[in-house]
Amino acid sequence: MTDPTIFGKIIRREIPADIVYEDDELIAFRDIAPQAPVHVLFVPKTHVPTLNELQPDQAAVVGRLAHAAAAYAKREGFAEDGYRIVMNCNGDGGQTVFQIHLHLLAGAQLGRFGTPR
Ligand code: 5GP
Repeated sequence: MTDPTIFGKIIRREIPADIVYEDDELIAFRDIAPQAPVHVLFVPKTHVPTLNELQPDQAAVVGRLAHAAAAYAKREGFAEDGYRIVMNCNGDGGQTVFQIHLHLLAGAQLGRFGTPR
């Protein structure tokens, strides 16, 4: 299924993004509103709106996103200092773009997370 979201438009080069990595399965680009000195989004090319729709035979897609994020951290030299990966789901999770994606946050000591607003 074609990804109708803004991330699908980035994948299809219909809108610009600061792309830092791409292969046959996924794309990675800098978040337009970074929440840390490094904030990169890893997005699969297979359209899955939220983690709730992820099928058992698609589980490896999430593993590929995590592996690509770790590889990026190693390449960029901050893997040993550390980083955080986050996937938001639906309203309470704070998901705003309905194509699954993994946030990679790094470049500073990050605060704790998960507290209700
Ligand atoms: P979510 O809230 O769904 O977990 O994360 C969506 C992320 O996409 C947000 O951090 C937001 O800043 C980012 N974002 C939304 N629109 C764009 C865009 O057009 N370009 C880029 N690079 N990031 C975007």
